[in-house]
Amino acid sequence: MINIILFGPPGSGKGTQSVKISKKYNLSHLSTGDIFRMNIKNKTDLGKKAIFYINKGNLVPDDITLAMLKNEFNSFKNTNGFIFDGFPRTIFQANNLDEFLKSKNTKVSSVISLEVDEIELTRRLLLRGVNSKRDDDRDKDVIKNRIQVYKKETFILKNYYDSKEILSEVNGIGSIDEIFKNISDKLDLIIE
Ligand code: ADP
Repeated sequence: MINIILFGPPGSGKGTQSVKISKKYNLSHLSTGDIFRMNIKNKTDLGKKAIFYINKGNLVPDDITLAMLKNEFNSFKNTNGFIFDGFPRTIFQANNLDEFLKSKNTKVSSVISLEVDEIELTRRLLLRGVNSKRDDDRDKDVIKNRIQVYKKETFILKNYYDSKEILSEVNGIGSIDEIFKNISDKLDLIIE
């Protein structure tokens, strides 16, 4: 089983690239943001809890996120592996993912980090707010908070995976196809 984490700040293009990666390498796409939004749309209990955090630009608490993620993971049968998009976002989630995958006799194969500077991130998120109508992309203060939360809680995961020697950085600025080519060049080394 191959398990790839696509890592990067909000607006770095994780969603767009994950869809392409999942198709090319035949991996199941697990986007925590998408799953939360689906639950919010369908007004599930999980959605009712998550909306409170998401609309402020804060992280959904680890216990809620992890329970959901494990549930989703277990719902895929006979998969080649996963592309994790937007997860993990805290050290606690990363530790928990390691333990969880170990219990399934597998592990994180590779982490691709999309590198995009803060000015470009803010520009993209505001643009997405106009086009996609995502509530958390429309408000400048919420966007600012998401970037702050990334710096405070999530950025450190780069060290976590770098120390395991499974981290590769890819420039997240350029055309979608260019970026995908650079990601593919890294993944081709580990996926046949
Ligand atoms: P982006 O990467 O652009 O912020 P996502 O769709 O990945 O978009 O996430 C949207 C929101 O969903 C986040 O701001 C956060 O509130 C919540 N969320 C997504 N993934 C996680 C996670 N792993 N842990 C906690 N909260 C999460």
